[in-house]
Amino acid sequence: MRLDRQIRKKKKVSSLKKKLKRKQEKEAKKDLQEKAGLFNKLGEECLVCQKDFDKKNKEMVMSWSVIVKEDTVRLYCPECWDRANNLIKEIKDGYTNTKDDV
Ligand SMILES: [Zn+2]
Repeated sequence: MRLDRQIRKKKKVSSLKKKLKRKQEKEAKKDLQEKAGLFNKLGEECLVCQKDFDKKNKEMVMSWSVIVKEDTVRLYCPECWDRANNLIKEIKDGYTNTKDDV
């Protein structure tokens, strides 16, 4: 009974949902296109150590860091990313002179 009612309710708002769905699909498509465009812009190697980056390697894609600034895409391998972050942290710590922040 409950399930039946839910189905009927769904039918009632289906036109609105369809509209919404179409909008979402459009946005998703746009998002995907943007991401794909970005992906094409990706370099083939780490910006710092020139280590090869394999776009088809899911693990690599997940672990490498991509920094997008306006139209520039920077690619960092995990090692260089860690090093860069440590450097940033050191600089920050030096500037703010915070103590006991280990
Ligand atoms: Zn690197």
